[in-house]
Amino acid sequence: MIQLSERLLAMEESATIAMSRKSRELKAQGKDVISLSLGEPDFNTPQFIKDAATEAMDNNFTKYMPVPGYDDLRESISNKFKRDNNLNYDKDQIVVSTGAKQSIANVVLTLINPGDEVIIPAPFWVSYIEIVKVAGGIPILVNAGIDKDFKIDGKDLENAITAKTKLMIFSTPCNPTGSVYNRSELRDLADVIQKHPSLIVLCDEIYEHINFESKHESLAQFNDVYGQVVTVNGVSKAWAMTGWRLGYIGAPKAIANACSKVQGQFTSGTSSITQKAAIAAMNADPQILNDMISAFKSRRELVLDALAEMPGIKTNHPGGAFYVFPDCSAYFGKTNGSAMINNANDLCLYLLEEALVALVTGDAFGDPNCFRISYAASEETLKEAMHRIKAALSKLN
Ligand code: PMP
Ligand code: GLU
Repeated sequence: MIQLSERLLAMEESATIAMSRKSRELKAQGKDVISLSLGEPDFNTPQFIKDAATEAMDNNFTKYMPVPGYDDLRESISNKFKRDNNLNYDKDQIVVSTGAKQSIANVVLTLINPGDEVIIPAPFWVSYIEIVKVAGGIPILVNAGIDKDFKIDGKDLENAITAKTKLMIFSTPCNPTGSVYNRSELRDLADVIQKHPSLIVLCDEIYEHINFESKHESLAQFNDVYGQVVTVNGVSKAWAMTGWRLGYIGAPKAIANACSKVQGQFTSGTSSITQKAAIAAMNADPQILNDMISAFKSRRELVLDALAEMPGIKTNHPGGAFYVFPDCSAYFGKTNGSAMINNANDLCLYLLEEALVALVTGDAFGDPNCFRISYAASEETLKEAMHRIKAALSKLN
């Protein structure tokens, strides 16, 4: 008999991945499902990046590589941090991994002992909490509701810190809420962080470039907390490279060395071909992303306008990423005669069955009143999806 580890049994399947699997299965059965469940750009990887990969293969960059990444890639990431974020991370402070997901896992495994507390502002990205649990850490959720644009402030952070606090993990722009922390909001958090020198903060900036209203701000920009911050980023979102698998950190040297050590035992470096392709992305002018960003911006307007016409649905005004996280609690207790809606999970299942639109329940992101829409889809698809959602909601009384 196979006995799985307690560690594994305590872990939830990724809700984003589970929902996209479910919608793929329904599509395979011939159902016309619209999937707005996965946070994945619908654009193709730019040609110059693919060309760099071809060149890498032609030049036989197909062997084992240094665990934290090729030197020339880490140099170009170091330059990117300086150019885009005004952050000084030298090559030895940078570790390249198989996706930002692995970067986060490395940091958590590196820092967390069983029983250590990890502060996670909720709503949060699904994988943070499960990675913390695997490491034996205790997730301490700090709720930031829709009325606060789903963001926590210094006071909220201070109240959550105990003698056992080791780490905080958050994203800006945020998955699932699209909320963006501005400079003064980060400064407010930094004021608290610098008072607790043993607290490390993992700032996930993977949606950095998908920011519609402001300049991206990094937490590590403040000198008094720079030594306590790990900045996570990657190529999946901005460069439409989800399948290539490359993420990276800029971190204090001791953490970078430790992440490299963990990675050396688990996976080694990420694909040599991907690494060479990523150099092209890192060296490119981010201005070339403008067309993609304006496409995301018009889609955001389309989705927000459509949601505003649905009675009882409440949204914030997401400044970045490609998600909207509406509050649907006004529908709890309603029914169409057969399906009873008691929570966001029920509503997502109802919308999948009745409207054939796949979304992700807010439960998985730490807010059971909400659901997540990923608007990384064409305007035509989004219009149809919004039309179907509205029709299905109108049947609930
Ligand atoms: N952080 C956040 C906030 C994300 O949404 C994602 C989703 N992909 C990741 C990290 C992981 O990205 P990657 O594809 O680089 O593993
Ligand atoms: N991060 C994306 C999402 O939230 C991709 C799925 C995943 O990696 O979990 O949908």
